[in-house]
Amino acid sequence: MDLRKYIRDVPNFPKEGIVYFDITPLLADPAAFQYTIDMMAEKFSDYKADKIAAAEARGFIFGAPLAYKLGIGFVPIRKPGKLPYDTVSVSYDLEYGSDSLSMHVDAVSAGEDVLLIDDVLATGGTAEGMIKLVEKAGGIVSGIGFLTELGFLNGQSKLNGVPNCHLVTL
Ligand code: 5GP
Repeated sequence: MDLRKYIRDVPNFPKEGIVYFDITPLLADPAAFQYTIDMMAEKFSDYKADKIAAAEARGFIFGAPLAYKLGIGFVPIRKPGKLPYDTVSVSYDLEYGSDSLSMHVDAVSAGEDVLLIDDVLATGGTAEGMIKLVEKAGGIVSGIGFLTELGFLNGQSKLNGVPNCHLVTL
């Protein structure tokens, strides 16, 4: 199945000159969505994983069903101030400015292998933040899986050599 057909190009979103890749057509198509999760399970199974961690909001959409399919736990990574219990947090660089991510302190145990999931690798800032967060909590990032990679933005350079793969190159 060609998943590219289910990703819609939206010019000038969120601002003039940017093409946004909209994954909602893929989510709305039951066969395409199911195929995506099945392919992720197949392609990302080389990475040893005790848990999957993913950041809100779109990371949850793929991370949670994949965790279910692989029979492992799911860890939500959130913007600061959203999680109710004690958290560990990191700041990471964006193209313009910076942002922060948080996770519960007991979400990942020392030495646990964690597979990170997100929908899109763009500049790599978000993935870099997730790696720092899991490592700060004592976990080992065994791999990162994306639905798509925007190759022209060179997000790979932010991943610090962590093994990664994706289903669709844009
Ligand atoms: P980065 O931090 O790598 O620059 O951006 C990746 C994050 O922004 C991902 O969590 C992703 O959800 C979101 N993102 C950036 N560009 C796009 C895009 O074109 N389409 C979608 N669906 N998400 C994007």
